[in-house]
Amino acid sequence: MIPASFAYHTPQSVNEALALLGEHGDDAKILAGGHSLLPALKLRLSSVGHLIDIGRIADLAYIKEDQGKLCLGARTSHYQVESSALVQQKCPLLAECASHIGDVQVRNRGTLGGSLAHADPAADYPAAILALEAEIHAVGTGGTRAITAEDFFVDMLTTALQPGEILTEVRLAPVAAKTGSVYLKVPQPASGFAVVGVAALVTLDASGKCAKVRVGVTGATATAFRAKDTEAALIGKTPDEKTLDQAAAQSTNGIDANGDIFASAEYRTHLVRVYTKRALLKAVERAKT
Ligand SMILES: Cc1cc2nc3c(=O)[nH]c(=O)nc-3n(C[C@H](O)[C@H](O)[C@H](O)COP(=O)(O)OP(=O)(O)OC[C@H]3O[C@@H](n4cnc5c(N)ncnc54)[C@H](O)[C@@H]3O)c2cc1C
Repeated sequence: MIPASFAYHTPQSVNEALALLGEHGDDAKILAGGHSLLPALKLRLSSVGHLIDIGRIADLAYIKEDQGKLCLGARTSHYQVESSALVQQKCPLLAECASHIGDVQVRNRGTLGGSLAHADPAADYPAAILALEAEIHAVGTGGTRAITAEDFFVDMLTTALQPGEILTEVRLAPVAAKTGSVYLKVPQPASGFAVVGVAALVTLDASGKCAKVRVGVTGATATAFRAKDTEAALIGKTPDEKTLDQAAAQSTNGIDANGDIFASAEYRTHLVRVYTKRALLKAVERAKT
């Protein structure tokens, strides 16, 4: 199928893109890599009169350090995230997570900002973005604001971005010493998206006990979530296998799991617990090296 006709705009700056969004309102959408938006337009699941392609805005594609934070522009591709020495050094969890997305063609075209703004419940990044407690920056006519990862993912395909806002940057605090992290995923065999994906980050104190634990889970529910009961159960504990097993059992407390023809809600719930334990074991192992 071909999409309904639309006007195609190529702004050269964020301000120009904002002006176009303001001018065309609900009849306009930002186009990043087009990996989610174009299929939706072709299938006529979505239609807009104006596509605002941010692909030529150089200011939106970068990976840099600023005031001790790792900053990634919204237009940064998954491949750039995966292969960046700076990301691998400061926030290896994000690079590892990016390496799990689709295939190399998808990773070259898909963007960090596009994936987050789309908020697919089976996308990989949200698990890592939650575990890393990222700050997501958006700009609108009223100025720039920072949104915490926890506030950003609101519901299936719904984020805290307001109409007329553009996601510009993701900011991350570098991980502390004696921290191990990992992203593990059960991929849907046809699409590669996450049936369940778990990002775990563990910081150990000098005596080997858990000082900080973060667990982000994607794929299982309408929107990615932090397994906070699991995190709390581990603080101050020695992360032996039994302790991790008991903590992982709490990762599904209060969730309302999705079910589909590939994986029932019960199976997804089971996978979250199993993969949370595996991810915690791996993160602890990495924290010790
Ligand atoms: C074959 C295939 C396999 C894939 N496999 C995986 C996978 O395994 N795991 C995974 O996580 N993802 C996967 N994806 C998704 C892909 O990696 C993209 O991240 C995702 O589709 C978003 O694409 P995009 O960056 O091209 O954004 P687009 O499709 O251009 O945009 C997506 C949505 O976000 C909005 N948007 C984009 N950028 C901004 C911005 N800066 N500010 C505000 N709104 C914005 C757009 O208006 C649109 O609504 C796959 C995609 C394909 C085609």
